[in-house]
Amino acid sequence: MTYDPVAPVAQHGSSTPARVLIVDDDPTMVALCARTLTAAGHEAVVATDTASALEALRAQAPFDLLLADIQLPGASGLELAQAARELDPAIAVVIMTGHSSMDTLHASVRRGVADYLTKPFEIDELRTAIDQALHKRHLLQESLRMRALEQLLQSSEAMNAILDREQLARTIVQHARAHLPCHAGFLIIAGSTDTPTEVVTDPEHASLLASGREAVAQSIRAGRPLAVRDETPLATAGEHSLTHGLAVPLRSRGEVVGAILLCDNRPDFASPGAQEILALLANQAGNALRNAHLYAELDTAFKALRELDRLKSEFIAIASHELRSPLSIVMGYARMVRDRSDGELHAYAQRMLDGAERIKGIVDDMMRLRDLDRNQARMSTAPTALGDLVAQAVERLAPSAQQKQLAVDLRVPEAPLVVELDPDKALLVIGNLLANAIKFTPAGGSVTITLDRWPHERLATAVGRATSNPTVRRLKGAIPPEWAVVRVEDTGIGIPRDQQARIFDRFYQVASSLTREHGGAGLGLAIVCDLTTLLGGVVWVESEEGRGSTFSFALPLGR
Ligand code: ADP
Repeated sequence: MTYDPVAPVAQHGSSTPARVLIVDDDPTMVALCARTLTAAGHEAVVATDTASALEALRAQAPFDLLLADIQLPGASGLELAQAARELDPAIAVVIMTGHSSMDTLHASVRRGVADYLTKPFEIDELRTAIDQALHKRHLLQESLRMRALEQLLQSSEAMNAILDREQLARTIVQHARAHLPCHAGFLIIAGSTDTPTEVVTDPEHASLLASGREAVAQSIRAGRPLAVRDETPLATAGEHSLTHGLAVPLRSRGEVVGAILLCDNRPDFASPGAQEILALLANQAGNALRNAHLYAELDTAFKALRELDRLKSEFIAIASHELRSPLSIVMGYARMVRDRSDGELHAYAQRMLDGAERIKGIVDDMMRLRDLDRNQARMSTAPTALGDLVAQAVERLAPSAQQKQLAVDLRVPEAPLVVELDPDKALLVIGNLLANAIKFTPAGGSVTITLDRWPHERLATAVGRATSNPTVRRLKGAIPPEWAVVRVEDTGIGIPRDQQARIFDRFYQVASSLTREHGGAGLGLAIVCDLTTLLGGVVWVESEEGRGSTFSFALPLGR
Protein backbone atom coordinates (compact mmCIF):
# COMPACT_ATOMS: atom_id res chain seq x y z
CA MET A 1 0.00 0.00 0.00
CA THR A 2 1.30 3.48 -0.79
CA TYR A 3 0.41 6.54 1.22
CA ASP A 4 1.03 10.03 -0.07
CA PRO A 5 0.55 12.95 2.24
CA VAL A 6 -1.84 15.41 0.63
CA ALA A 7 0.00 18.66 -0.09
CA PRO A 8 -1.78 21.99 0.23
CA VAL A 9 -2.94 23.36 -3.10
CA ALA A 10 -0.55 25.82 -4.77
CA GLN A 11 -2.23 28.91 -6.19
CA HIS A 12 -0.66 30.23 -9.39
CA GLY A 13 -0.66 33.89 -10.12
CA SER A 14 0.52 34.82 -13.61
CA SER A 15 4.01 35.59 -12.36
CA THR A 16 4.57 32.48 -10.20
CA PRO A 17 6.44 29.55 -11.78
CA ALA A 18 4.12 27.07 -13.49
CA ARG A 19 4.35 23.43 -14.64
CA VAL A 20 3.73 23.29 -18.37
CA LEU A 21 3.21 20.27 -20.62
CA ILE A 22 4.41 21.05 -24.16
CA VAL A 23 3.09 18.77 -26.91
CA ASP A 24 4.17 19.06 -30.58
CA ASP A 25 5.29 16.46 -33.10
CA ASP A 26 8.04 18.83 -34.21
CA PRO A 27 11.01 18.30 -31.83
CA THR A 28 12.54 21.69 -32.75
CA MET A 29 9.34 23.49 -31.81
CA VAL A 30 9.11 21.54 -28.52
CA ALA A 31 12.71 22.41 -27.67
CA LEU A 32 12.19 26.12 -28.51
CA CYS A 33 9.06 26.38 -26.34
CA ALA A 34 10.72 24.47 -23.49
CA ARG A 35 13.74 26.78 -23.57
CA THR A 36 11.57 29.91 -23.59
CA LEU A 37 9.42 28.70 -20.71
CA THR A 38 12.37 27.50 -18.62
CA ALA A 39 14.08 30.85 -19.19
CA ALA A 40 10.91 32.50 -17.79
CA GLY A 41 11.25 30.37 -14.66
CA HIS A 42 8.58 27.76 -15.49
CA GLU A 43 8.98 23.99 -15.43
CA ALA A 44 8.53 22.28 -18.79
CA VAL A 45 7.60 18.63 -19.48
CA VAL A 46 7.56 17.65 -23.14
CA ALA A 47 5.77 15.09 -25.33
CA THR A 48 5.74 14.59 -29.07
CA ASP A 49 2.55 12.53 -29.49
CA THR A 50 -0.92 12.32 -27.98
CA ALA A 51 -0.40 9.00 -26.17
CA SER A 52 2.68 10.11 -24.26
CA ALA A 53 1.03 13.50 -23.58
CA LEU A 54 -1.99 11.75 -22.03
CA GLU A 55 0.31 9.50 -20.04
CA ALA A 56 2.23 12.55 -18.75
CA LEU A 57 -1.04 14.34 -17.85
CA ARG A 58 -2.03 11.38 -15.70
CA ALA A 59 1.26 10.26 -14.24
CA GLN A 60 3.07 13.56 -13.79
CA ALA A 61 0.14 15.76 -12.66
CA PRO A 62 -0.51 18.41 -11.60
CA PHE A 63 0.10 20.71 -14.59
CA ASP A 64 -0.88 24.35 -14.71
CA LEU A 65 -0.82 24.69 -18.48
CA LEU A 66 -1.03 22.58 -21.61
CA LEU A 67 0.71 24.06 -24.66
CA ALA A 68 -0.23 21.80 -27.59
CA ASP A 69 -0.09 21.86 -31.35
CA ILE A 70 -3.51 21.60 -32.99
CA GLN A 71 -2.45 18.71 -35.19
CA LEU A 72 -0.86 15.82 -33.38
CA PRO A 73 -0.28 12.22 -34.41
CA GLY A 74 -3.17 10.16 -33.02
CA ALA A 75 -5.59 12.98 -32.08
CA SER A 76 -6.05 16.71 -32.34
CA GLY A 77 -4.66 19.14 -29.79
CA LEU A 78 -8.24 20.09 -28.94
CA GLU A 79 -9.11 16.52 -28.00
CA LEU A 80 -6.04 16.47 -25.79
CA ALA A 81 -7.20 19.78 -24.24
CA GLN A 82 -10.58 18.21 -23.54
CA ALA A 83 -8.94 15.25 -21.79
CA ALA A 84 -6.74 17.60 -19.76
CA ARG A 85 -9.79 19.62 -18.67
CA GLU A 86 -11.53 16.45 -17.51
CA LEU A 87 -8.59 15.76 -15.21
CA ASP A 88 -8.29 19.35 -14.00
CA PRO A 89 -11.16 21.73 -14.84
CA ALA A 90 -8.94 24.74 -14.18
CA ILE A 91 -5.92 23.79 -16.37
CA ALA A 92 -4.87 26.57 -18.77
CA VAL A 93 -4.68 25.55 -22.44
CA VAL A 94 -2.86 27.26 -25.31
CA ILE A 95 -3.25 25.70 -28.74
CA MET A 96 -0.62 26.41 -31.39
CA THR A 97 -2.12 26.54 -34.83
CA GLY A 98 -1.57 27.42 -38.48
CA HIS A 99 -4.10 29.63 -40.33
CA SER A 100 -5.80 26.63 -41.98
CA SER A 101 -7.34 25.33 -38.72
CA MET A 102 -8.57 28.68 -37.44
CA ASP A 103 -12.30 27.89 -37.81
CA THR A 104 -12.40 24.90 -35.47
CA LEU A 105 -10.14 26.73 -33.07
CA HIS A 106 -12.32 29.81 -32.95
CA ALA A 107 -15.21 27.62 -31.88
CA SER A 108 -13.10 26.22 -29.03
CA VAL A 109 -11.92 29.65 -27.98
CA ARG A 110 -15.52 30.81 -27.85
CA ARG A 111 -16.42 27.83 -25.65
CA GLY A 112 -13.56 28.84 -23.38
CA VAL A 113 -11.67 25.59 -23.99
CA ALA A 114 -8.42 27.20 -25.05
CA ASP A 115 -6.38 30.23 -26.00
CA TYR A 116 -4.48 30.05 -29.24
CA LEU A 117 -1.21 31.10 -30.75
CA THR A 118 -0.81 31.31 -34.51
CA LYS A 119 2.32 29.82 -36.04
CA PRO A 120 4.80 31.17 -36.81
CA PHE A 121 5.07 33.28 -33.66
CA GLU A 122 7.70 35.42 -31.99
CA ILE A 123 9.17 34.41 -28.62
CA ASP A 124 7.52 37.42 -27.03
CA GLU A 125 4.13 36.38 -28.38
CA LEU A 126 4.63 32.94 -26.83
CA ARG A 127 5.51 34.52 -23.47
CA THR A 128 2.48 36.81 -23.59
CA ALA A 129 0.10 33.96 -24.50
CA ILE A 130 1.46 31.82 -21.66
CA ASP A 131 1.17 34.66 -19.13
CA GLN A 132 -2.39 35.45 -20.19
CA ALA A 133 -3.45 31.81 -20.07
CA LEU A 134 -1.90 31.38 -16.59
CA HIS A 135 -3.65 34.49 -15.38
CA LYS A 136 -6.96 33.09 -16.66
CA ARG A 137 -6.20 29.82 -14.86
CA HIS A 138 -5.65 31.75 -11.68
CA LEU A 139 -9.04 33.47 -12.05
CA LEU A 140 -10.75 30.20 -12.93
CA GLN A 141 -9.19 28.47 -9.95
CA GLU A 142 -10.42 31.26 -7.71
CA SER A 143 -13.95 31.02 -9.05
CA LEU A 144 -13.95 27.20 -8.69
CA ARG A 145 -12.71 27.64 -5.15
CA MET A 146 -15.46 30.14 -4.41
CA ARG A 147 -18.06 27.73 -5.79
CA ALA A 148 -16.60 24.91 -3.70
CA LEU A 149 -16.61 27.13 -0.61
CA GLU A 150 -20.24 28.02 -1.26
CA GLN A 151 -21.05 24.33 -1.41
CA LEU A 152 -19.02 23.82 1.75
CA LEU A 153 -21.08 26.47 3.48
CA GLN A 154 -24.25 24.71 2.39
CA SER A 155 -22.86 21.40 3.67
CA SER A 156 -21.93 23.04 6.94
CA GLU A 157 -25.42 24.51 7.36
CA ALA A 158 -27.01 21.16 6.53
CA MET A 159 -24.78 19.36 9.05
CA ASN A 160 -25.35 21.85 11.83
CA ALA A 161 -29.11 21.60 11.42
CA ILE A 162 -29.09 17.86 12.20
CA LEU A 163 -28.98 16.69 15.81
CA ASP A 164 -29.63 13.01 15.22
CA ARG A 165 -26.20 11.32 15.11
CA GLU A 166 -27.11 8.58 12.64
CA GLN A 167 -28.77 10.96 10.21
CA LEU A 168 -25.86 13.36 10.58
CA ALA A 169 -23.29 10.65 9.85
CA ARG A 170 -25.14 9.69 6.65
CA THR A 171 -25.39 13.35 5.58
CA ILE A 172 -21.64 13.85 6.12
CA VAL A 173 -20.69 10.99 3.78
CA GLN A 174 -23.23 12.08 1.19
CA HIS A 175 -21.91 15.63 1.22
CA ALA A 176 -18.30 14.40 1.04
CA ARG A 177 -19.20 12.40 -2.07
CA ALA A 178 -21.00 15.40 -3.56
CA HIS A 179 -17.83 17.51 -3.18
CA LEU A 180 -15.61 14.74 -4.49
CA PRO A 181 -17.57 12.40 -6.79
CA CYS A 182 -16.41 8.78 -6.32
CA HIS A 183 -17.76 5.23 -6.18
CA ALA A 184 -17.95 4.88 -2.37
CA GLY A 185 -17.60 6.91 0.79
CA PHE A 186 -17.21 5.81 4.41
CA LEU A 187 -17.43 7.69 7.66
CA ILE A 188 -15.54 5.99 10.44
CA ILE A 189 -16.20 7.22 13.99
CA ALA A 190 -13.33 6.12 16.20
CA GLY A 191 -14.39 3.77 19.02
CA SER A 192 -13.12 3.49 22.56
CA THR A 193 -12.91 0.69 25.09
CA ASP A 194 -16.66 1.11 25.78
CA THR A 195 -17.94 1.99 22.31
CA PRO A 196 -17.19 0.09 19.11
CA THR A 197 -15.94 1.86 16.00
CA GLU A 198 -18.89 2.92 13.84
CA VAL A 199 -18.81 2.79 10.03
CA VAL A 200 -21.38 4.57 7.87
CA THR A 201 -21.39 3.62 4.19
CA ASP A 202 -22.58 5.44 1.10
CA PRO A 203 -23.95 3.92 -1.10
CA GLU A 204 -25.31 1.33 1.28
CA HIS A 205 -24.19 -1.65 -0.82
CA ALA A 206 -20.51 -0.59 -0.69
CA SER A 207 -18.15 -2.48 1.66
CA LEU A 208 -15.05 -1.31 3.43
CA LEU A 209 -12.29 -3.93 3.21
CA ALA A 210 -9.28 -4.63 5.45
CA SER A 211 -6.92 -2.42 3.38
CA GLY A 212 -9.44 0.41 3.58
CA ARG A 213 -9.61 0.09 7.38
CA GLU A 214 -5.83 0.11 7.53
CA ALA A 215 -5.74 3.27 5.37
CA VAL A 216 -8.17 4.95 7.77
CA ALA A 217 -6.12 3.87 10.78
CA GLN A 218 -2.98 5.31 9.15
CA SER A 219 -4.69 8.64 8.49
CA ILE A 220 -6.02 8.81 12.06
CA ARG A 221 -2.58 7.97 13.45
CA ALA A 222 -0.87 10.54 11.21
CA GLY A 223 -3.63 13.06 11.96
CA ARG A 224 -3.65 14.34 8.35
CA PRO A 225 -5.15 13.53 4.93
CA LEU A 226 -3.54 10.68 2.98
CA ALA A 227 -3.97 9.66 -0.64
CA VAL A 228 -3.87 5.85 -0.74
CA ARG A 229 -3.14 3.34 -3.52
CA ASP A 230 -3.12 -0.42 -3.10
CA GLU A 231 -2.99 -3.57 -5.22
CA THR A 232 -5.69 -5.15 -3.08
CA PRO A 233 -8.93 -3.14 -3.12
CA LEU A 234 -9.68 -0.77 -0.25
CA ALA A 235 -13.39 -1.19 -0.78
CA THR A 236 -15.98 -2.52 -3.20
CA ALA A 237 -19.12 -0.94 -4.60
CA GLY A 238 -21.24 -3.28 -6.75
CA GLU A 239 -18.96 -4.71 -9.40
CA HIS A 240 -16.28 -2.06 -8.80
CA SER A 241 -13.11 -2.91 -6.89
CA LEU A 242 -11.78 0.35 -5.57
CA THR A 243 -8.01 0.57 -5.23
CA HIS A 244 -7.61 4.32 -4.78
CA GLY A 245 -8.66 6.29 -1.75
CA LEU A 246 -8.45 9.56 0.07
CA ALA A 247 -8.57 9.36 3.88
CA VAL A 248 -9.19 12.57 5.83
CA PRO A 249 -9.24 12.63 9.63
CA LEU A 250 -12.20 14.21 11.45
CA ARG A 251 -11.30 16.61 14.19
CA SER A 252 -13.19 18.13 17.04
CA ARG A 253 -11.51 20.51 19.47
CA GLY A 254 -8.12 19.45 18.10
CA GLU A 255 -8.77 15.77 18.76
CA VAL A 256 -9.06 13.20 15.96
CA VAL A 257 -12.45 11.55 16.39
CA GLY A 258 -12.63 9.50 13.18
CA ALA A 259 -12.09 9.80 9.43
CA ILE A 260 -13.77 10.04 6.06
CA LEU A 261 -12.52 7.61 3.41
CA LEU A 262 -13.51 8.16 -0.21
CA CYS A 263 -12.69 5.36 -2.68
CA ASP A 264 -12.63 5.07 -6.46
CA ASN A 265 -10.92 3.12 -9.20
CA ARG A 266 -9.48 6.20 -10.94
CA PRO A 267 -6.08 7.27 -9.64
CA ASP A 268 -6.88 10.94 -10.22
CA PHE A 269 -10.39 11.08 -8.74
CA ALA A 270 -9.36 13.57 -6.06
CA SER A 271 -8.05 16.84 -7.48
CA PRO A 272 -5.88 18.82 -5.05
CA GLY A 273 -8.59 21.50 -4.70
CA ALA A 274 -11.24 18.90 -3.86
CA GLN A 275 -8.90 17.33 -1.30
CA GLU A 276 -8.54 20.67 0.42
CA ILE A 277 -12.32 21.21 0.49
CA LEU A 278 -12.75 17.71 1.92
CA ALA A 279 -10.29 18.50 4.72
CA LEU A 280 -12.36 21.60 5.58
CA LEU A 281 -15.57 19.58 5.44
CA ALA A 282 -14.02 17.00 7.77
CA ASN A 283 -13.34 19.68 10.37
CA GLN A 284 -16.93 20.91 10.22
CA ALA A 285 -18.17 17.32 10.36
CA GLY A 286 -16.07 16.56 13.45
CA ASN A 287 -17.60 19.48 15.31
CA ALA A 288 -21.13 18.70 14.11
CA LEU A 289 -20.73 15.10 15.32
CA ARG A 290 -19.55 16.32 18.70
CA ASN A 291 -22.53 18.67 18.98
CA ALA A 292 -24.92 15.85 18.06
CA HIS A 293 -23.24 13.66 20.68
CA LEU A 294 -23.61 16.36 23.35
CA TYR A 295 -27.23 16.91 22.34
CA ALA A 296 -27.94 13.17 22.65
CA GLU A 297 -26.39 13.17 26.14
CA LEU A 298 -28.43 16.24 27.09
CA ASP A 299 -31.58 14.64 25.74
CA THR A 300 -30.99 11.47 27.76
CA ALA A 301 -30.33 13.51 30.91
CA PHE A 302 -33.44 15.60 30.24
CA LYS A 303 -35.59 12.48 29.81
CA ALA A 304 -34.18 11.03 33.03
CA LEU A 305 -35.01 14.28 34.84
CA ARG A 306 -38.51 14.36 33.42
CA GLU A 307 -39.03 10.79 34.59
CA LEU A 308 -37.75 11.78 38.04
CA ASP A 309 -40.15 14.69 38.06
CA ARG A 310 -43.02 12.40 37.10
CA LEU A 311 -42.08 9.99 39.89
CA LYS A 312 -41.94 12.89 42.33
CA SER A 313 -45.42 14.04 41.34
CA GLU A 314 -46.69 10.47 41.60
CA PHE A 315 -45.10 10.13 45.02
CA ILE A 316 -46.79 13.33 46.16
CA ALA A 317 -50.15 12.11 44.89
CA ILE A 318 -49.88 8.64 46.45
CA ALA A 319 -48.30 9.73 49.73
CA SER A 320 -50.79 12.54 50.37
CA HIS A 321 -53.71 10.23 49.64
CA GLU A 322 -52.39 7.33 51.73
CA LEU A 323 -51.47 9.54 54.71
CA ARG A 324 -54.74 11.41 54.98
CA SER A 325 -57.02 8.67 56.37
CA PRO A 326 -54.65 7.27 59.07
CA LEU A 327 -53.74 10.84 60.03
CA SER A 328 -57.36 11.81 60.61
CA ILE A 329 -57.80 8.68 62.78
CA VAL A 330 -54.71 9.63 64.83
CA MET A 331 -55.92 13.22 65.17
CA GLY A 332 -59.47 12.19 66.05
CA TYR A 333 -58.37 9.87 68.89
CA ALA A 334 -55.70 12.30 70.13
CA ARG A 335 -58.32 15.01 70.39
CA MET A 336 -60.68 12.63 72.21
CA VAL A 337 -57.99 11.62 74.73
CA ARG A 338 -57.03 15.28 75.26
CA ASP A 339 -60.63 16.34 75.85
CA ARG A 340 -61.34 13.46 78.24
CA SER A 341 -58.19 13.76 80.32
CA ASP A 342 -56.36 16.20 82.50
CA GLY A 343 -52.91 16.63 83.98
CA GLU A 344 -49.99 14.86 82.31
CA LEU A 345 -52.12 12.79 79.96
CA HIS A 346 -53.87 15.93 78.69
CA ALA A 347 -50.48 17.57 77.97
CA TYR A 348 -49.18 14.45 76.17
CA ALA A 349 -52.30 14.28 74.02
CA GLN A 350 -51.91 17.98 73.19
CA ARG A 351 -48.29 17.36 72.05
CA MET A 352 -49.47 14.46 69.91
CA LEU A 353 -52.02 16.76 68.36
CA ASP A 354 -49.43 19.50 67.69
CA GLY A 355 -47.17 16.97 65.95
CA ALA A 356 -50.07 15.59 63.95
CA GLU A 357 -51.04 19.17 62.93
CA ARG A 358 -47.54 19.63 61.50
CA ILE A 359 -47.85 16.39 59.52
CA LYS A 360 -51.27 17.55 58.34
CA GLY A 361 -49.68 20.81 57.11
CA ILE A 362 -47.28 18.82 54.92
CA VAL A 363 -50.02 16.45 53.70
CA ASP A 364 -52.21 19.47 52.85
CA ASP A 365 -49.32 20.98 50.88
CA MET A 366 -48.88 17.71 49.00
CA MET A 367 -52.60 17.54 48.23
CA ARG A 368 -52.52 21.11 46.92
CA LEU A 369 -49.57 20.31 44.66
CA ARG A 370 -51.34 17.20 43.41
CA ASP A 371 -54.42 19.25 42.54
CA LEU A 372 -52.30 21.94 40.86
CA ASP A 373 -50.44 19.23 38.87
CA ARG A 374 -53.73 17.76 37.70
CA ASN A 375 -55.20 21.18 36.96
CA GLN A 376 -57.85 20.31 39.51
CA ALA A 377 -57.42 23.43 41.60
CA ARG A 378 -60.86 25.04 41.54
CA MET A 379 -61.03 28.82 41.32
CA SER A 380 -63.84 30.81 42.86
CA THR A 381 -63.21 34.49 42.35
CA ALA A 382 -64.74 37.47 44.12
CA PRO A 383 -63.85 41.16 44.50
CA THR A 384 -61.47 41.05 47.46
CA ALA A 385 -59.96 43.83 49.55
CA LEU A 386 -56.31 42.82 49.67
CA GLY A 387 -55.68 44.80 52.88
CA ASP A 388 -58.20 42.60 54.72
CA LEU A 389 -56.56 39.48 53.34
CA VAL A 390 -53.12 40.57 54.53
CA ALA A 391 -54.51 41.47 57.98
CA GLN A 392 -56.15 38.05 58.17
CA ALA A 393 -52.84 36.31 57.43
CA VAL A 394 -51.07 38.40 60.10
CA GLU A 395 -53.75 37.59 62.64
CA ARG A 396 -53.51 33.85 61.95
CA LEU A 397 -49.77 33.81 62.39
CA ALA A 398 -49.58 36.25 65.27
CA PRO A 399 -49.16 33.47 67.91
CA SER A 400 -46.02 32.02 66.27
CA ALA A 401 -44.57 35.54 65.83
CA GLN A 402 -45.23 36.28 69.48
CA GLN A 403 -43.64 32.98 70.51
CA LYS A 404 -40.41 34.12 68.80
CA GLN A 405 -40.74 37.69 70.08
CA LEU A 406 -40.82 39.10 66.57
CA ALA A 407 -42.14 42.58 65.90
CA VAL A 408 -44.71 42.36 63.12
CA ASP A 409 -45.49 45.61 61.33
CA LEU A 410 -48.42 45.83 58.91
CA ARG A 411 -48.63 48.75 56.47
CA VAL A 412 -51.64 48.95 54.18
CA PRO A 413 -52.91 52.00 52.28
CA GLU A 414 -55.98 53.77 53.53
CA ALA A 415 -57.92 53.43 50.30
CA PRO A 416 -58.88 49.77 49.97
CA LEU A 417 -57.19 47.89 47.13
CA VAL A 418 -59.82 45.63 45.65
CA VAL A 419 -58.87 42.84 43.26
CA GLU A 420 -61.06 40.25 41.56
CA LEU A 421 -59.49 36.96 42.66
CA ASP A 422 -59.83 33.70 44.54
CA PRO A 423 -59.28 34.93 48.14
CA ASP A 424 -58.39 31.48 49.54
CA LYS A 425 -55.58 31.06 47.05
CA ALA A 426 -54.22 34.58 47.62
CA LEU A 427 -54.40 34.00 51.38
CA LEU A 428 -52.41 30.77 51.00
CA VAL A 429 -49.69 32.66 49.11
CA ILE A 430 -49.47 35.52 51.63
CA GLY A 431 -49.73 33.05 54.54
CA ASN A 432 -46.85 30.93 53.18
CA LEU A 433 -44.59 33.97 52.69
CA LEU A 434 -45.40 35.28 56.17
CA ALA A 435 -44.92 31.85 57.80
CA ASN A 436 -41.47 31.57 56.16
CA ALA A 437 -40.51 35.09 57.29
CA ILE A 438 -41.40 34.15 60.87
CA LYS A 439 -39.70 30.73 60.59
CA PHE A 440 -36.41 32.07 59.19
CA THR A 441 -36.07 35.14 61.43
CA PRO A 442 -34.30 34.63 64.75
CA ALA A 443 -35.97 35.75 67.98
CA GLY A 444 -35.99 39.51 68.47
CA GLY A 445 -36.08 40.27 64.75
CA SER A 446 -38.86 41.95 62.82
CA VAL A 447 -41.21 41.23 59.95
CA THR A 448 -42.82 44.04 57.92
CA ILE A 449 -45.72 43.50 55.55
CA THR A 450 -46.67 46.25 53.14
CA LEU A 451 -49.39 46.52 50.54
CA ASP A 452 -48.95 49.03 47.73
CA ARG A 453 -50.01 50.06 44.26
CA TRP A 454 -47.13 49.91 41.74
CA PRO A 455 -46.97 51.14 38.13
CA HIS A 456 -45.78 48.49 35.68
CA GLU A 457 -42.36 50.15 35.15
CA ARG A 458 -41.51 49.90 38.85
CA LEU A 459 -42.51 46.25 38.89
CA ALA A 460 -40.54 45.49 35.70
CA THR A 461 -37.39 47.07 37.18
CA ALA A 462 -37.71 45.20 40.48
CA VAL A 463 -38.45 41.88 38.79
CA GLY A 464 -35.65 42.48 36.25
CA ARG A 465 -33.12 42.53 39.10
CA ALA A 466 -34.46 39.34 40.70
CA THR A 467 -33.43 35.78 39.87
CA SER A 468 -35.74 33.90 37.57
CA ASN A 469 -38.62 31.56 38.43
CA PRO A 470 -41.61 30.44 36.31
CA THR A 471 -43.79 33.42 37.33
CA VAL A 472 -41.03 35.92 36.47
CA ARG A 473 -40.46 34.28 33.07
CA ARG A 474 -44.18 34.51 32.29
CA LEU A 475 -44.24 38.23 33.00
CA LYS A 476 -42.66 39.06 29.63
CA GLY A 477 -46.00 38.55 27.84
CA ALA A 478 -48.70 40.55 29.66
CA ILE A 479 -48.19 44.15 30.71
CA PRO A 480 -51.00 45.44 32.95
CA PRO A 481 -50.43 49.13 33.75
CA GLU A 482 -50.77 48.69 37.53
CA TRP A 483 -50.13 46.05 40.13
CA ALA A 484 -51.08 45.42 43.75
CA VAL A 485 -47.88 44.38 45.51
CA VAL A 486 -47.65 42.60 48.87
CA ARG A 487 -44.12 42.66 50.27
CA VAL A 488 -43.03 40.49 53.21
CA GLU A 489 -39.74 41.77 54.57
CA ASP A 490 -37.81 40.05 57.36
CA THR A 491 -34.53 40.58 59.21
CA GLY A 492 -33.83 36.85 59.15
CA ILE A 493 -31.06 34.53 57.94
CA GLY A 494 -31.36 35.53 54.26
CA ILE A 495 -30.78 33.36 51.19
CA PRO A 496 -27.51 33.05 49.26
CA ARG A 497 -27.80 34.62 45.79
CA ASP A 498 -26.95 31.38 43.94
CA GLN A 499 -29.89 29.58 45.60
CA GLN A 500 -32.54 32.24 45.16
CA ALA A 501 -33.91 30.76 41.92
CA ARG A 502 -33.97 27.21 43.27
CA ILE A 503 -35.98 27.84 46.45
CA PHE A 504 -39.14 27.88 44.28
CA ASP A 505 -38.45 24.26 43.21
CA ARG A 506 -40.29 21.43 44.91
CA PHE A 507 -38.53 20.00 47.97
CA TYR A 508 -35.69 22.50 47.66
CA GLN A 509 -34.30 23.87 50.87
CA VAL A 510 -31.23 26.03 51.28
CA ALA A 511 -28.37 23.81 52.48
CA SER A 512 -28.11 25.24 55.99
CA SER A 513 -31.83 24.82 56.63
CA LEU A 514 -31.34 21.11 55.96
CA THR A 515 -29.98 20.87 59.47
CA ARG A 516 -33.73 20.59 60.22
CA GLU A 517 -33.49 23.50 62.58
CA HIS A 518 -36.50 25.08 60.88
CA GLY A 519 -38.51 22.05 59.77
CA GLY A 520 -40.69 22.06 56.63
CA ALA A 521 -40.64 19.93 53.50
CA GLY A 522 -39.54 22.47 50.90
CA LEU A 523 -43.00 22.57 49.27
CA GLY A 524 -44.33 25.95 50.42
CA LEU A 525 -42.68 28.16 47.77
CA ALA A 526 -43.44 25.64 45.00
CA ILE A 527 -47.12 26.01 45.93
CA VAL A 528 -46.73 29.81 46.13
CA CYS A 529 -45.28 29.75 42.61
CA ASP A 530 -48.07 27.57 41.17
CA LEU A 531 -50.83 29.53 42.91
CA THR A 532 -49.34 32.85 41.79
CA THR A 533 -49.38 31.54 38.22
CA LEU A 534 -53.05 30.59 38.63
CA LEU A 535 -53.80 34.08 39.92
CA GLY A 536 -51.95 35.67 36.97
CA GLY A 537 -49.38 37.27 39.27
CA VAL A 538 -45.64 37.38 39.87
CA VAL A 539 -43.58 36.41 42.89
CA TRP A 540 -39.91 37.17 43.43
CA VAL A 541 -37.32 37.45 46.16
CA GLU A 542 -34.60 39.93 47.08
CA SER A 543 -32.33 38.69 49.80
CA GLU A 544 -28.90 38.99 51.32
CA GLU A 545 -27.41 36.20 53.36
CA GLY A 546 -27.36 37.09 57.05
CA ARG A 547 -29.34 40.31 56.60
CA GLY A 548 -32.84 39.25 55.67
CA SER A 549 -35.19 38.62 52.76
CA THR A 550 -38.05 40.38 51.04
CA PHE A 551 -40.57 38.25 49.19
CA SER A 552 -42.91 40.20 46.88
CA PHE A 553 -46.21 39.00 45.48
CA ALA A 554 -47.78 41.14 42.74
CA LEU A 555 -51.25 40.86 41.24
CA PRO A 556 -52.43 42.73 38.16
CA LEU A 557 -54.98 45.47 38.84
CA GLY A 558 -57.89 45.95 36.50
CA ARG A 559 -58.52 49.51 35.30
P1 ADP B 1 -40.02 25.05 53.66
O1 ADP B 1 -41.24 24.27 53.96
O2 ADP B 1 -38.78 24.30 53.84
O3 ADP B 1 -40.01 26.40 54.30
P2 ADP B 1 -40.36 26.55 51.24
O4 ADP B 1 -40.58 26.06 49.85
O5 ADP B 1 -41.37 27.45 51.83
O6 ADP B 1 -40.12 25.27 52.11
O7 ADP B 1 -38.97 27.29 51.27
C1 ADP B 1 -37.87 26.70 50.64
C2 ADP B 1 -36.59 27.16 51.27
O8 ADP B 1 -36.35 28.54 50.99
C3 ADP B 1 -36.61 27.10 52.78
O9 ADP B 1 -36.31 25.81 53.24
C4 ADP B 1 -35.52 28.10 53.11
O10 ADP B 1 -34.26 27.50 52.96
C5 ADP B 1 -35.70 29.16 52.05
N1 ADP B 1 -36.53 30.28 52.50
C6 ADP B 1 -37.83 30.52 52.25
N2 ADP B 1 -38.25 31.66 52.80
C7 ADP B 1 -37.19 32.18 53.44
C8 ADP B 1 -36.96 33.36 54.23
N3 ADP B 1 -37.93 34.25 54.45
N4 ADP B 1 -35.73 33.56 54.72
C9 ADP B 1 -34.75 32.68 54.50
N5 ADP B 1 -34.89 31.55 53.78
C10 ADP B 1 -36.09 31.30 53.26
